[in-house]
Amino acid sequence: MALPLDDLRERVRAALGPDILVADDPRYARDDGAEGPFPPGLVVRPTATDQVGELVRLCHDLAVPLSPRGAGTGTVGGCLADHGGVVLDLAALTSLEIDERSLLAEAQPGVINADLQAAAEARGLFYPPDPASLKKCSLGGNVATNAGGPRACKYGVTGNFVLGLDVVTGTGQALRVGHRSIKGVTGYNLAGLLVGSEGTLGVITGCTFRLLPLPACAVTLLASFADEAAACAAVHACQTGGVVPAALEFADRVCTRVLRESGALATPPEAGALLWVEIDGDTAGLDASIRRAADRCREAGALTVDVAEDPATRARLWDVRRALSHTLRALWPRKVSEDVAVPLSKLPALTAAARELGQRHGLDIASFGHAGDGNLHVNVLYDPAAPDVVRRVDHAVADLFKITVDLGGTLSGEHGIGISKRQFMPLEQSAPLRNLQLDLKRAWDPRNILNPGKIFPPD
Ligand SMILES: Cc1cc2nc3c(=O)[nH]c(=O)nc-3n(C[C@H](O)[C@H](O)[C@H](O)COP(=O)(O)OP(=O)(O)OC[C@H]3O[C@@H](n4cnc5c(N)ncnc54)[C@H](O)[C@@H]3O)c2cc1C
Repeated sequence: MALPLDDLRERVRAALGPDILVADDPRYARDDGAEGPFPPGLVVRPTATDQVGELVRLCHDLAVPLSPRGAGTGTVGGCLADHGGVVLDLAALTSLEIDERSLLAEAQPGVINADLQAAAEARGLFYPPDPASLKKCSLGGNVATNAGGPRACKYGVTGNFVLGLDVVTGTGQALRVGHRSIKGVTGYNLAGLLVGSEGTLGVITGCTFRLLPLPACAVTLLASFADEAAACAAVHACQTGGVVPAALEFADRVCTRVLRESGALATPPEAGALLWVEIDGDTAGLDASIRRAADRCREAGALTVDVAEDPATRARLWDVRRALSHTLRALWPRKVSEDVAVPLSKLPALTAAARELGQRHGLDIASFGHAGDGNLHVNVLYDPAAPDVVRRVDHAVADLFKITVDLGGTLSGEHGIGISKRQFMPLEQSAPLRNLQLDLKRAWDPRNILNPGKIFPPD
């Protein structure tokens, strides 16, 4: 049935003014993943939070589907209007206040992650969640996907820093959930439910984040290894050998070769895996921690261990790591990127399985990611002109999910399910569990207008 978009457009114009409507823009048809293009029927860009409630109410009245959008850096099609309805662009809601004495930040959803980090640091405070997309992604998107990043290894993911949220439900009702105190256990943890709900339960219009004192200093080690197994052994040795890494990031042999050949990193030719180890904390004791981390890496067989203390060298090492996804994308015509996660003890098995999948299906596969959390970005790299390649890629991805779940892992460590992975949900979650979650969705969004059909596959 055709959506009543003309009617909706007129009602939006009458209630909220013409300026809130955005003219056709092809950017809204895609995010950073492979889904789409899905051109939306209507794009709305509010400049005040009360406009969000009014808009959702209008969509609810006419049963028009709506997809919240932050910065569109998601990789699973979560912010796309695959239903042809409304995209609600929250990027213009950018107010940010730091409450220094309470160690809190109050942010609207369109604030960019890096801007919160910089504002906190300017006051000697620290907002740890650092997705590799931090210079572009929005805090609303981070909350909706429970984004992680390298520092999740020590500090946790976005959800560990969310104290309270302002939210608009699928009927257009504005609610405040959670609290502004650091602790708070009154009622159900509804802020926790909204974290990672991928825009299916409510639209987040305000976030209260906890901040930490800024660590006095940080040092980055880059260690190279002959192969992935040795790097995984070093991850285990660091975590059980008296090192408290802020980040432990991994790159496999394909990534290591690409970084060496592009000149991004000077690693020995025999290196087949890399680890970035970040140590932060008080100046006193840091030298001992660095020594311990370097020793653990060498005991696990490191070929080289380079220590970077000055901010410029550290920043460059992290820029190389954060750019890895785009570096690979520039070298192969197509890239399908998954973000599976397994219990830490299964990380060596997962890295080996990813490599073996490439051999089995005749595909290039490059893995990198958050080894300290057991969260690996497995990238299938291919040329769409190669014979039978789409079928082989599909099989490799399906095999990867099956292996991950068999290892006790999960389909997504941080990117979410969205459109791209919903067909695989039955591998990990039973029908009763899905139905319980759909019951929750009905309570928040009775007409099923918020990102309908995402996360959970139809029967
Ligand atoms: C190069 C690159 C590196 C990345 N690295 C990481 C990483 O290290 N860790 C990580 O976790 N992710 C990473 N990502 C994925 C992505 O950046 C994150 O998922 C991020 O949190 C998405 O934020 P966004 O503002 O772009 O959200 P969008 O892509 O706009 O939306 C993502 C989802 O959130 C929903 N949403 C957005 N805003 C709201 C809101 N206000 N209320 C309700 N729902 C909302 C959308 O409907 C959608 O389902 C990376 C992506 C890229 C391109």
